[in-house]
Amino acid sequence: MARPNRHRPFRPDPAQMALAPAVSGNAINGLGEAEPRRPRMVYWAPDADDIAHGDMQRYFYQQSAKVLGFADKRAARQEVIDAPMPPLAATPRDARPEDWTADLARFVEAGDCDRTGVAAMRAEWAYADRTVPQSRVIVLGVQHDYDQIATAPEPEAGLEVVTQYTRAAAAAKKIAGWLREQGWEAEPVTGPMTSAITLIPPAIACGFGELGKHGSLINPEFGASFRLSAVLTDAPFATTPPRAFHVDDFCASCQICEDACPPAALFPEKQTVRGETKWYVDFDRCLPFFNQTHGCAICIAVCPWSRPGVGINLAEKLARRAERAR
Ligand code: SF4
Ligand code: SF4
Repeated sequence: MARPNRHRPFRPDPAQMALAPAVSGNAINGLGEAEPRRPRMVYWAPDADDIAHGDMQRYFYQQSAKVLGFADKRAARQEVIDAPMPPLAATPRDARPEDWTADLARFVEAGDCDRTGVAAMRAEWAYADRTVPQSRVIVLGVQHDYDQIATAPEPEAGLEVVTQYTRAAAAAKKIAGWLREQGWEAEPVTGPMTSAITLIPPAIACGFGELGKHGSLINPEFGASFRLSAVLTDAPFATTPPRAFHVDDFCASCQICEDACPPAALFPEKQTVRGETKWYVDFDRCLPFFNQTHGCAICIAVCPWSRPGVGINLAEKLARRAERAR
């Protein structure tokens, strides 16, 4: 039986719904499409005029601009994104691939980010109208303050998301700058407007976790409570292997996020999306609530993996269970 939900029934603001385009965001995302294809940008466009949901994206920013703190935090993030990069050194550093990758640990040790990984770039991660020439995607993760995220859908949670996107952007800029000082071109990719690539697939490929029913990545260390940024480069980093924690098995018998989602945007089963069977969030249902609550984040907050200290124990328990079942 579904748990009680104090946010249901959710009635979207008619002024927002008047901005909805005729096309479904799920159609843009390829829900129900059996053939693989590259993703199309459905939201978080650098220029809102480039997407069908551009007016709804503008509404999101207009809503949160009315709440104290968002404008200042977004301005601080923009300052980070706009900061100049160091000049490109004339001679590219020559090092072993494993040494390049090991060097990333120092950015975690310094607190710039909380996790790094490296994936070999795949064409299918780039948006349909973008070409990414670089061979490597360095993925960076930053963990939310759980107490702030746990306030979702209050504005404090949305403010924490902007704080961590800023931190993720600063880490991407710092690592890209370091690479340029080593004589290698590097392009920082900062969220939420990544512009070139979708971040979740490369993050899965390089060990950040598995996709949960709520459409966000889950790993034992951060649960689902983290944000991503990336750096694109040709510096010859060794790739980081994927990791599996039996998240699929867990999600199949858990419905906490399904019950907690005010607009009932989470499917109980995996869906076919551009030729892949995976957990998927109903974009058209999620977006109006997301927009009216400055980014919602309820599904991330309620996920048991996100609670501090829980994910590691869960992963160990699931690994033991899988071992017994072999
Ligand atoms: S972010 Fe979207 S999917 Fe998640 S709980 Fe909120 S409305 Fe539901
Ligand atoms: S709340 Fe439960 S079903 Fe939803 S993503 Fe987390 S573990 Fe999976």
